[in-house]
Amino acid sequence: MKYYILFGPPGAGKGTQAKFIAEKYNLLHISTGDLLRKEMAAGTPLGLQAKQLIEGGNLVPDEVVVGMIRSTFANNTEVAGFLLDGFPRTIAQAQMLDKMLADQDSKVDKVLSLTIKDETIFERIAKRAQIEGRKDDADPATIQNRIDTYHAKTEPLIDYYKNAGNYCEIPGEQTIEEVFRSICKEIG
Ligand code: ADP
Repeated sequence: MKYYILFGPPGAGKGTQAKFIAEKYNLLHISTGDLLRKEMAAGTPLGLQAKQLIEGGNLVPDEVVVGMIRSTFANNTEVAGFLLDGFPRTIAQAQMLDKMLADQDSKVDKVLSLTIKDETIFERIAKRAQIEGRKDDADPATIQNRIDTYHAKTEPLIDYYKNAGNYCEIPGEQTIEEVFRSICKEIG
């Protein structure tokens, strides 16, 4: 079983690239953001809990997202591998993922990290707000909080995975096709 992580700040293009990668390499795409939005749309207790946090630009608790990942792995044992998009987002999540994979004699194969400048994040999210209508994209204060949260809680994962030796960086400010080509080169 292969495990790839698509890493990067909000608006880096993870969702766009994930679809292409999953199709080409026959991986199951797991987006914790999409899973949480489904829970919100269905009005489940988990969705209601997540809604306020997400709409304020904050992370949902580690145990919640780790639980979603755990059950998605358990329910999809026949796939070639997984592409994790938006997970892990904290060191604690990365440690729980490592433990989960070690228990089944697996590991993270590669971390594909899309890099973009904070200004570009803003521009892209503002544009996406008009297309997708996500509440957490609409308010500049929420966007700023997501960027700050990324720097404080998620960016430390870069060193975590550099130390693990499976980290690679892809400049995210090229065209969609160029980014995809760069990713494919890294996957090999
Ligand atoms: P983006 O990366 O563009 O901000 P996502 O769809 O990946 O969008 O995530 C939207 C929101 O869902 C995040 O701002 C956060 O509140 C929540 N979320 C998604 N994944 C996680 C995670 N792994 N840990 C905690 N919260 C998460």
